[in-house]
Amino acid sequence: MNKRAYNFNAGPAALPLQVLERAQAEFVDFRSTGMSIMEMSHRGKVYEEVHNEAESRLLSLLGNVKGYKVLFLQGGASTQFAMLPMNLLSEGKVASYVNSGSWADKAIKEAKLIGKTNVVASSEANKFMSIPDLSNVQLSDETAYLHVTSNETIEGTQYQQFPDTGNIPLIGDMSSDILSRQFDLNQFGLIYAGAQKNLGPSGVTVVIAREELINDSPKNIPTMLRYNTHFSNNSLYNTPPAFSVYMVNEVLKWVEEQGGLEGIEKINRKKAELIYDTIDNSGGFYRGPVEVGSRSIMNITFRLTSEELENQFIKESEQEGFVGLKGHRSVGGLRASIYNAVPYESCKALADFMSHFQKTHG
Ligand SMILES: *Cc1c(COP(=O)(O)O)cnc(C)c1O
Repeated sequence: MNKRAYNFNAGPAALPLQVLERAQAEFVDFRSTGMSIMEMSHRGKVYEEVHNEAESRLLSLLGNVKGYKVLFLQGGASTQFAMLPMNLLSEGKVASYVNSGSWADKAIKEAKLIGKTNVVASSEANKFMSIPDLSNVQLSDETAYLHVTSNETIEGTQYQQFPDTGNIPLIGDMSSDILSRQFDLNQFGLIYAGAQKNLGPSGVTVVIAREELINDSPKNIPTMLRYNTHFSNNSLYNTPPAFSVYMVNEVLKWVEEQGGLEGIEKINRKKAELIYDTIDNSGGFYRGPVEVGSRSIMNITFRLTSEELENQFIKESEQEGFVGLKGHRSVGGLRASIYNAVPYESCKALADFMSHFQKTHG
């Protein structure tokens, strides 16, 4: 086996090697059927078992909270930006959003196309380098839901705690930090995530929702965009992204083996600490632009003292086998995405490389 890259890609992102190897082992002949899982009917017993396994594993990792249903959809988290208000923002209601950065902003723009949308808090004034303070947010009785982006993948910020919205459903775009730490699903009416950061390959989008929010969608929405279509058909109304769902199930098995969310959170915090410590102890050579209290443990953004030096960093890191450390084109700088599947060893190697780079260029 060739050396694996130190993969810090933002998405699609690293998958656990064990999962890739398991998938490889059963790629051609799945569970002794003489077929790959991509070649069989999604109505057959074999696929349906995988599909249902993935759902029950996900719910169990989230604490088996009663009354929630998992949907396996397509179109990415970006489709959820529209599907959510189409289903939940009815006439006379207002959708409330927290604008915490690039992804929240996209969600807001889509909601505005559908209905009355209100930004109740924003950190735009400080270039989204923190999660907005929500302590003074008042939600009116007409509020359909409050939408938050639990982790801003591009800026590198993350909620440390979620607001208590009482009877108003809290909605979370958790695309870049789902299953990375413990949280109380009960606080949320609905969460969603494109799989390609923390759950598996691209091609499937996971929605986890309180059943009463998704069992009765407005009739004037196209069939495929109605939550209740997928709810009442166990996400098998049409052909699901079978291979992606299978991979998600394998990733979930791997998460269980890491000790579930509690185990994975411990590892993730250690990984993040290693890199943030390197930044903070560099005497200003590296700089973390995000406010300390809003730092993400999934996407670590950092800067050097000049763009020239940043380009040099990328160049040398690539020569050493590091992948994906360039910041998003919209914000520049550097970013290490250290999702669940990025091993501690990769983070250690990055921290060592950063120290070495400082010695030779500081
Ligand atoms: C990547 C990402 C998205 C977009 O996901 P797609 O599946 O590509 O549509 C949305 N929100 C967040 C927070 C993301 O990180």
